[in-house]
Amino acid sequence: MAYIAGVDIGNSSTEVALLRQSDDGTHEFISSALHRTTGLKGTQKNVPGVVNALTRAAKKADIDINRIDRVLLNEAAPVIGDVAMETITETVITESTMIGHDPSTPGGVGLGTGTSIEISADMDDHNRTDPLIFLIPESVDFAVAAELLNEWHENGYEVNGAIVQRDDAVLIHNRINIEIPIIDEVSQIERIPRGQPTAVEVAPQATGKTIDELSNPYGIATVFDLSSEETQKVIPVARALVGNKSAVVIKTPKGDVEERTIPAGRLQIIDERGSTTEVPVDEGADTIMDAVMNSWPVSDVQGESGSNIGGMLNRARDSMAEVTDQSVDTIEIRDIMAVDTLIPQEVQGSVAGEHSMESAVALAAMVKTQQLPMQQIADGVESELDTEVIIQGVEANMAVLGSLTTPGTATPVAILDMGGGSTDAAYMDEDKEIESIHLSGAGDMVTMLIDSELGLEDRDLAEAVKKYPSAKVQTLFSIREEDGTVDFLDEPVDPSLFGRTILLEDDGGMRPVPVDKSPEEIRRIRRQAKRRVFVTNAERALNLITPTESIRQIPFVVMVGRSSLDFEIPEMISDALAEYGIVCGRANVRGEMGPRNAVATGLVLSHIGGGGYLDFGIPAALSTSLERAPAKTD
Ligand code: ADP
Ligand code: MG
Repeated sequence: MAYIAGVDIGNSSTEVALLRQSDDGTHEFISSALHRTTGLKGTQKNVPGVVNALTRAAKKADIDINRIDRVLLNEAAPVIGDVAMETITETVITESTMIGHDPSTPGGVGLGTGTSIEISADMDDHNRTDPLIFLIPESVDFAVAAELLNEWHENGYEVNGAIVQRDDAVLIHNRINIEIPIIDEVSQIERIPRGQPTAVEVAPQATGKTIDELSNPYGIATVFDLSSEETQKVIPVARALVGNKSAVVIKTPKGDVEERTIPAGRLQIIDERGSTTEVPVDEGADTIMDAVMNSWPVSDVQGESGSNIGGMLNRARDSMAEVTDQSVDTIEIRDIMAVDTLIPQEVQGSVAGEHSMESAVALAAMVKTQQLPMQQIADGVESELDTEVIIQGVEANMAVLGSLTTPGTATPVAILDMGGGSTDAAYMDEDKEIESIHLSGAGDMVTMLIDSELGLEDRDLAEAVKKYPSAKVQTLFSIREEDGTVDFLDEPVDPSLFGRTILLEDDGGMRPVPVDKSPEEIRRIRRQAKRRVFVTNAERALNLITPTESIRQIPFVVMVGRSSLDFEIPEMISDALAEYGIVCGRANVRGEMGPRNAVATGLVLSHIGGGGYLDFGIPAALSTSLERAPAKTD
């Protein structure tokens, strides 16, 4: 009896497949296990993760870890992925006005317009026919402010709204005899211009509705009677207000809010013939991706130093050089993926900490070196476990072998391995020859996009938002799902979750999402991030990998990697590929593992010559060793 373990060290996870080989030559996979990859993939720091994953697999199989006779490592693809974000617009307020301020507890409801005026102003200085919006500084108590508003109203003035410095909107609203929208928590109220046309809008509370006049450029144009030229200028204002529950817009004499483009540096994409294409990052993702695909195969990408993207590319290059003990100039960036995104940012010159959604470009890079020091890992594992460790095969090839244990698959076949740092693809033709490719952009990029678009600033939470559907807790006994279905619960929810947006975790857990976004919005952002990364990369990968003119020639595509466990990604890709007439499905490795464990399984199969799991013999090129492992015990 012998035990053989295949170990796949990935960017994110280290996976094990454990096989028992009986003396009569039969074999059986007896367990599999997973541990987070420790350290950067392909470095000696991976050893503890490998030992841990092996320990788990042995435990599941109910054997001592010392019984494992042979450990097979993958020749990890010498690529690592990294991600970065570059903001390319900023909204700047050049005069004192306010946009996009969204206090948690505004008062009243509706849209009010009028001239901005101090609450302490003298009535005699004003005309009863002029509608007014009152400014209430913190020096004025809420009860006094309410009394003054009532007085103005009783004296026949048109009181249409109020802007308050303290968090007093509700207190004031409860004490006045008129229904007007009131916005509060405007910290820099002194910077609001007086005597200017002003509009205040508060959406109906409770319903979860957002404002609809001031978030629409034509709404603002109507309120202020703007020309078409002036309307152009308020587009950034309206955009900043989308999704707000309340807002103030003030018309000042000059164009006061502008959207500026921040110079974000340039990328230089160098193709294999040595010609360079320069793209300014602020031209956006489409321009960058066109340049990348037109320069394929890419031999290197350089970023302007000083920009975030330049910094990220250099960081990735440096860490790869350090890990592999090679000089920085031998490290190449072989692919980048750019995605346009929006991120909430504080507005420059704001009066109440307002935010605006700024345009940004997210970038993932694929860094390549000559070879990873796999032998060092092998030696490390060998000395820890006192077991023979062999570097058995190339990652992409092993992924193909493992994937082909999926019932119903045949060659030619294309494999999409969707992991954390990269989307890898391989194509095996009728002659069992394999081509493979590694593209940047995968699960980590989706997580980054979700994190920044929702303004979470919490990678762990963003990871959960990616994996689980969201819902709104409507009552203690009901939740509304993303598609609007209402679920009634047997047990009451934790009262602290009442009215909150939550994630419905696999184990029935409910995790609150601490941002003011509806489940519908979260769903839109989440699905868009997944589509932009994975559908784009699936098409890119298949186009680059197929030997034929068109990807329509590929009969089957099998999806593996842990991003294929996602509840939406495989379906999105299948739908997109169906348009080319390609059959695409999620792997079921060994008929039982789903899309997990393909590389680890492939390593073991390549070592034992297929073991009856494949309907073809493994070509010599794919198996470095076909001997049976010598038994250590029994
Ligand atoms: P690698 O081979 O590079 O180590 P993996 O195949 O382990 O990568 O995939 C890691 C990626 O899979 C991460 O981005 C992670 O967020 C994602 N992932 C893991 N589990 C799930 C899941 N249940 N649903 C969606 N994505 C998942
Ligand atoms: Mg992998």
